[in-house]
Amino acid sequence: MAGEPQDDCLFCKIVAGRIPATVVRETDTTLAFRDINPQAPTHVLVIPKAHHRDAAALAAADPALTADVLRETEAVAAEENLDSYRTVFNTGSGAGQTVFHVHAHVLGGRGLQWPPG
Ligand code: IMP
Repeated sequence: MAGEPQDDCLFCKIVAGRIPATVVRETDTTLAFRDINPQAPTHVLVIPKAHHRDAAALAAADPALTADVLRETEAVAAEENLDSYRTVFNTGSGAGQTVFHVHAHVLGGRGLQWPPG
């Protein structure tokens, strides 16, 4: 069911503390932690604690929680002193989504090219 923890979900396990992560921010509804394979000097993932598959599912199920996640991306960027940064939601395997618990990538600390690959 939407929002419920999934036994086979990596990021639900991080929320539950069953897999370690380098947490940089936590709120009642969100968690932000460093990506294990950083693509920029700052590469933080912001997730809702509740399980939703992707950004489209999250937005449809819980607009307030969607706003919480977006607000936290900005908070991470401020804490990391990023003037410029990129927020990315990969949606679907064709776009590079590999973990199907919605997450915003916050990338910064170097020049970022456009368009992305
Ligand atoms: P996606 O490809 O957009 O789904 O992003 C998944 C991200 O999760 C990738 O950037 C991975 O490097 C990252 N990742 C996978 N496992 C872990 C972990 O255990 N801790 C932190 N980040 C992870």
